[in-house]
Amino acid sequence: MAQSLDIESDVFAETSCKIYCANCSKCKLVRVPVGNNEYQLRVRCDAGMWKKKLGEEKIYKYFTVARRAVDHCPAYEPMGEPREFLRELKKTLPIKDEIYST
Ligand code: SF4
Repeated sequence: MAQSLDIESDVFAETSCKIYCANCSKCKLVRVPVGNNEYQLRVRCDAGMWKKKLGEEKIYKYFTVARRAVDHCPAYEPMGEPREFLRELKKTLPIKDEIYST
């Protein structure tokens, strides 16, 4: 058990220089309609930092939000201690792209 905690710590140490967008106040959850009274959850960067190659805004499926990370971001506004925040977030994230009813 202690060994697995050490491994988890090492993994975090290797990646802790990254900024996790989920921990940024500019990372917004939005509903995208997919039919009659149904929607899917997506995340967007309210600072406009997520772009496709041709410059259009890029949005991501909500269940992938914990994977969104950047090396540097001038618009980053942290909402808390990243490690604890991500741990709690991962407990509540859906495991796949869900369809919700309004
Ligand atoms: S402002 Fe930067 S850190 Fe925040 S969500 Fe956008 S890209 Fe991520």
